[in-house]
Amino acid sequence: MYDVKSLKAEEFISDEEIMATLAYADANKDNVEVIDAILAKAREQKGLTHREASVLLACDIPEKIQEMYDLAKKIKEDYYGNRIVMFAPLYLSNYCVNGCVYCPYHLKNKHIARKKLTQEEVAKEVIALQDMGHKRLAIEAGEDPINNPIEYILDCIKTIYSIKHKNGAIRRVNVNIAATTVENYRKLHDAGIGTYILFQETYNKKSYEELHPTGPKHDYAYHTEAMDRAMEGGIDDVGLGVLFGLELYRYEFAGLLMHAEHLEAVHGVGPHTISVPRLKRADDIDPDTFDNGIDDDTFAKICALIRIAVPYTGMIISTRESKAVREKVLPLGVSQISGASKTSVGGYAEPEVEEEVTSAQFDVSDNRTLDEVVNWLMKMDYIPSFCTACYREGRTGDRFMTLCKNMQILNCCHPNALMTLKEYLEDYASPETKEIGMKLIEKELENIPNPKVKKTATEYIHNIAEGKRDFRF
Ligand code: SF4
Ligand code: SF4
Repeated sequence: MYDVKSLKAEEFISDEEIMATLAYADANKDNVEVIDAILAKAREQKGLTHREASVLLACDIPEKIQEMYDLAKKIKEDYYGNRIVMFAPLYLSNYCVNGCVYCPYHLKNKHIARKKLTQEEVAKEVIALQDMGHKRLAIEAGEDPINNPIEYILDCIKTIYSIKHKNGAIRRVNVNIAATTVENYRKLHDAGIGTYILFQETYNKKSYEELHPTGPKHDYAYHTEAMDRAMEGGIDDVGLGVLFGLELYRYEFAGLLMHAEHLEAVHGVGPHTISVPRLKRADDIDPDTFDNGIDDDTFAKICALIRIAVPYTGMIISTRESKAVREKVLPLGVSQISGASKTSVGGYAEPEVEEEVTSAQFDVSDNRTLDEVVNWLMKMDYIPSFCTACYREGRTGDRFMTLCKNMQILNCCHPNALMTLKEYLEDYASPETKEIGMKLIEKELENIPNPKVKKTATEYIHNIAEGKRDFRF
């Protein structure tokens, strides 16, 4: 029985409700009256239910799809402006006891190089990341109670926050580790993490159990209920995601939105972010063996509809996607991207040589340097942002959501983007990137509507040129 407020996975992600949703979507996908009514509601920019959004996803009418894209762009601009937040993943350890059939870190893969960073190696990675200009990381580790216990993760977080190399600092550590206990989530919260991210992989229980045949991750309910435990442990910013390509995308899409509705209904706070990874080639993994892959157009439509359905939730895209795909989905709602990522353990300080035994989780499709990514974004009139202000200012959970839902967060995002970009340009940019960036900042300062904020931001930016750092709204 479907119950959005239930704490049982099979009730808040009810298979019956998803099947009924897909049937409803099929029945209405050509019904222009229904579609127009849903689009009219979407234009209020307060989001859509999983049923409404699923109808739009099923709809194939070209003019209606164009309306969806136009609306996604508008919502993106109204809520987030033109800033794009930058981050990098940091792989700590690829030891893993699970048997996920789509991931090269699965226990039975004997030809992948297993690595776990020591604290000295973590420090080296962090210095390499700081020297590129990164301020925000997402740490990743396989599930292994012997090799990667929570104490190891906590030590790594402490090390990461402690390193201050030249003007560098990692100011926000998001954490992507296996589902764990309330007690461990509390420890992560106390360690000062930003967002706790856990991909559901697939919401379809039967597929989930087949794709995770062995290891603790096999337990669908424990995994699916993880965000409730994280919130109970005091983490109020959580990040959802599915691995598109594992199950039928329409099923996943409905499940993802139901999960968001559940968090909102139970905790009063929806997901802070949604990630949209697609299955990629990797050691021991051939994406062609999964026959639910989605093409680039469908992928773009999913991104646009997530933007429309949950306007207040940040959307993340990684270097799994190529430059071309990223270009296509950036205007449709993506608000955060990774840059210059290494998906191998220790890959920043000592990049792995191709053809050697690799420890990477997946092949990266966008191999550009951070400077190239920053340059590319600015040429498209986006402001690359290294902002980490919210959680450091205590703007998390419902405080953040209220500002976001009232479209006030832009008053912070925009000047913060300019100030952190200025830091990047001063400390790390190539001469060409710096020149483009300085002009962009000058132009964008004029777009700050509040005269007081404009004056303060201008002063801060001047101070950054003088060598001061870490200003924020
Ligand atoms: S997806 Fe995560 S849990 Fe599964 S094998 Fe890979 S690292 Fe381990
Ligand atoms: S102000 Fe907050 S929401 Fe905006 S970019 Fe910075 S951390 Fe993100």
